[in-house]
Amino acid sequence: MEKLEILTASAKYDVACTSSGSTRKGQTGALGNTTAMGICHSFAADGRCISLLKVLMTNGCIYDCAYCINRKSNPVRRAAFTPEEIADITMQFYRRNYIEGLFLSSGIMRNPDYTTEQLIAALELLRNVYRFNGYIHVKAIPGADDALLSRLGLLADRMSVNIELPSQESLGRLAPDKSKVSILQPMGLITNRIKENRSDIVKYNHAPRFAPAGQSTQMIVGASPDTDYQILNLTEGLYRKYALKRVFFSAYTPVVEDSLLPSLDTKPPLLREHRLYQADWLLRFYGFKANELLDEAVPNFNPLLDPKCSWAVNHREQFPVEINRAPYEMLLRVPGIGVRSAQRIVKARRAGALDFHALKKLGVVLKRAQFFITCKDKPLEGLKVSEHTLLRSLMSGEQLALQQPQVEQLTLFDDFNLSALPAAGDWDSFTKGAKA
Ligand code: SF4
Repeated sequence: MEKLEILTASAKYDVACTSSGSTRKGQTGALGNTTAMGICHSFAADGRCISLLKVLMTNGCIYDCAYCINRKSNPVRRAAFTPEEIADITMQFYRRNYIEGLFLSSGIMRNPDYTTEQLIAALELLRNVYRFNGYIHVKAIPGADDALLSRLGLLADRMSVNIELPSQESLGRLAPDKSKVSILQPMGLITNRIKENRSDIVKYNHAPRFAPAGQSTQMIVGASPDTDYQILNLTEGLYRKYALKRVFFSAYTPVVEDSLLPSLDTKPPLLREHRLYQADWLLRFYGFKANELLDEAVPNFNPLLDPKCSWAVNHREQFPVEINRAPYEMLLRVPGIGVRSAQRIVKARRAGALDFHALKKLGVVLKRAQFFITCKDKPLEGLKVSEHTLLRSLMSGEQLALQQPQVEQLTLFDDFNLSALPAAGDWDSFTKGAKA
C-alpha cells in the first residue's frame, strides 16, 4: 500500500492521459473492453484525469531533470513495483470497479532499454496471462531500442513520448540527460508503426493492433521562459508531422528548489495552460494556424480574452460577416459560433435567409457574435459598438473576475484525430515558427 501511495503520487504530474479513443469489444475469456468515446473520466479538483490507475513502475530515476520530483538528486522516498505487482494491482482495481484502465509510466531504471523491458513484462502479463482487454496507456521511454518500442506498442492502446519542454535550449538547461533526437525519434517510430499497422489491418483483419488510440505528448508550461508562440508552433508542427492525437499542456507546479526554475512559491500558470488548450482547439477544429494567433511581436495570449475573440478583435477588417453568405470557414472564425452552430447555419440557410432570432435558436452566442455579424445585411437592431462595450461583452463573467488578481481557471477537452521519423531541423522549425 505504501508503494502504491508513493508511485501514484509521483505519477500525478503527467497529464497526457485523458481519453482513450480506442474501440475493442469484450471477448470470451478476456476481461474488459474499450470504447471510442474514451473510458469513463473523472477529474480531480485540479482538473487532472483520475479515471485510470495512473502509476509509475518506479519513481527512482537515473536522470536529473530539474523540474521533476523524481529526479535523482531529489531526496524523496523511492519505491518500485515489479511487473507482477503492476499486473496484479491493475486486475484487483479493475475487478473492484475502481478503474477503467491503466496509465503506466516509469522513471528510468538502469537504462531506457531495461525500463522498457519492465514495462513490456507488466503489459504482457496483463494482456496474455490475465487476458486484460481494457484500456492501457503506456509511456514510451526516450532512448529505448526501436524493437522494444514496437513490442510495447502492440500491447498498449495509446503511447506517449513527453516532449516536456518546448525548446531545445530549455531542454538542454533543465533536462540535460535528454535530447531532442531522443524524444522525436521514438515519436516518429510510433507514427510510422501506426500508419503501417493501418494498412496491415486493411489487408489482414486479424493483424495485431499497434497503439490503436494513437500517441500523445505533454509540454510543461511555465518552467522555462518559452513563450506561448513557441509552444503553439511546436504543437502545430507535432500535429502535422507526427499526427498526434493530443498535445497536453501542464502548468508547472514547483516541486523542487532549483536556481534554474521559478521559485517554490510560484503559482502554477493555470490560466496560461487554459489559453493554450483553447488555442490548441482552434488549431484542431477551427482551421487556425499558430502564426495567426500569435507572432514574435505578441508572443503570449491575452489573459482577459480567449484566443478566438482576441484574433477577431485584432482583425476587425474581416468583419462583419454576413451570416447568409459567408463560407463555413469564415463562420467558424466568428466569436460565439462554434463548429456545431456553424454547421447548423449552413444547413438552415439553404431553406431561407436567417435572422438574429433564428441564429439564437441554432445555438449561436449572440452576446459575442452580434459585434461581428450581419443578418440580411443588417446589424442587430440597436447595437452600439465602442471599444469598451466590445471588450466587456467579449469577456465572460469569469474573465471579468480575472481582472481581480489571483483567479485561475482551466479545462480539458476531448480527443480528436487530427503523420514520420524526425527530419533534420524539425525541432528548430517548430519552435521558431517556420511555415511548412
Ligand atoms: S526522466 Fe526526467 S522527467 Fe522522467 S522521471 Fe526521470 S527525472 Fe523525471
